[in-house]
Amino acid sequence: MAQSKRALAKRAKSQKNSTRSRANSYQNFIGGRWVSSSSGEWIENRNPADTRDLVGRFPQSTEADVEKAVAAAKEAFDGWRRTPAPKRAEILFRVGEILIRDKEKYTRDMTREMGKVLKEAGGDVQEAIDCTYYAAGEGRRLHGFTTPAEMPNKFAACMRQPVGLCGLITPWNFPMAIPSWKLIPALVCGNTVVIKPAEDTPLSTYNLIKACEEAGIPPGVVNLVTGYGETVGAAISGHRDLRLISFTGSTETGRTVAYACAERNAICSLEMGGKNAIIVMDDADIDNAVEGSVWGAFGTSGQRCTASSRLIVHKKVYKQFASKLAERTKALRVGNGADPKVEVGPVINQDAVEKILSYVDIGQNEDGATLACGGNQLTKGDYGHGYYIEPSVFTDVTPDMRIAQEEIFGPVTSVIPTNSLEEAIEIANGVRYGLSAAIYTADVNRAFHAMEEIYTGIFYVNSATIGAEVHLPFGGTKATGNGHREAGTQVLDIFSEWKSVYVDYSGRLQRAQIDNAKAIG
Ligand code: ADP
Repeated sequence: MAQSKRALAKRAKSQKNSTRSRANSYQNFIGGRWVSSSSGEWIENRNPADTRDLVGRFPQSTEADVEKAVAAAKEAFDGWRRTPAPKRAEILFRVGEILIRDKEKYTRDMTREMGKVLKEAGGDVQEAIDCTYYAAGEGRRLHGFTTPAEMPNKFAACMRQPVGLCGLITPWNFPMAIPSWKLIPALVCGNTVVIKPAEDTPLSTYNLIKACEEAGIPPGVVNLVTGYGETVGAAISGHRDLRLISFTGSTETGRTVAYACAERNAICSLEMGGKNAIIVMDDADIDNAVEGSVWGAFGTSGQRCTASSRLIVHKKVYKQFASKLAERTKALRVGNGADPKVEVGPVINQDAVEKILSYVDIGQNEDGATLACGGNQLTKGDYGHGYYIEPSVFTDVTPDMRIAQEEIFGPVTSVIPTNSLEEAIEIANGVRYGLSAAIYTADVNRAFHAMEEIYTGIFYVNSATIGAEVHLPFGGTKATGNGHREAGTQVLDIFSEWKSVYVDYSGRLQRAQIDNAKAIG
């Protein structure tokens, strides 16, 4: 629900403004052809830094479009799964080459549709490149294993097979990286896919799919359907022919997707929310910890599932840390991410503005925390055309406050004082999510202890909670995920299924567990 409300809010705002640019109309990609939606309707994609700028119109697709896309994926499946994996990978390497060639254009497109500053948008595209090369390399591995059989003259092995048709549903905050994390491993494993990007940021996924087309991925192997979550997303999650749904987004929507998958026993891989903590110990390099916290809390305007939204600081250095953090935060340059001098871009849309401001209000008036800096929407001059919020720091936060428990997904962070490492670990673990955590300390014993005791999928020492690399598994515990990991070779366990193979070359009947067993009694 939230997503469509947000997009509607974005459109509502956009209607007040004149359209500055001539915008392209885009199409879905189904069965190797660019086609319009059966609805004939569009969703406007507007620049969150300046909503007068219409980035493009994308199909507001329907269930009927999803049906066509799934049918195309079905038709293409046998051909693609039978294409030797190294050959599939050759095409994927070409995708990587195209992404490198057009990185600058994709970066500008991403900043324009999503708002993140150019440097970070470039990082998002780079992540897609890295993921593509890394996953394509698996085309010549996709390792299984052999193992001794318990009988003589018998061979035992285990091999990967594709799962089949996959539905991929992606969010707006990493609009090329996250689709690539799902798409490229799915393809190298021999699956065919239907992908639906978030309604706020379809252009970056469109660019990725265009690269797939140019690289020569056969028709029907990759299908793009744009539209709202409640229609296109729901049709994908519930489609009987989609064996797997891979979803990244909010915990609430993820649960809806999981229910739909449970109905038909589809594989479901979920990447959802976070409430990530940095622990700052009294022996830490405080300036380094402040830099890390600013980057972790306000990078991508705090709109990362790995954002450093809780800073748990030892009382001995709390005052010093809090005042340096507030000073550093106030100095951040907020503006249009297309300006290279800007450090913090806008948030994604009007609904996000309202949600974030409501948490600023909760922090001050319900929780009783101290707003050390920020807390306002910026509306003067050019700011008035976009969705800008001052980077905000709350201090004197206690672990049970709502601002310390709930995912805000914006440029707001909370500083929580602590007396000891043990208490800090308890606070870090005391939320429903379990994605990422970090500790700043000069003491290796403390670092390793925290590493062992904190129950998250990702952990950093002396850096912020953000900065995952594509060759290590990514994902979280508790309400963050359902046990799967993307990236690394672990992603192959999502997009392939194991087949155990036994070959008996004894020429006679051999019965496992029976013929070799010791007689009882
Ligand atoms: P966020 O709150 O981060 O925007 P959402 O979970 O709302 O995350 O959206 C993530 C993706 O899930 C988007 O592509 C969105 O369109 C899609 N989506 C939203 N609602 C549903 C739904 N009911 N079923 C399937 N997908 C959905």
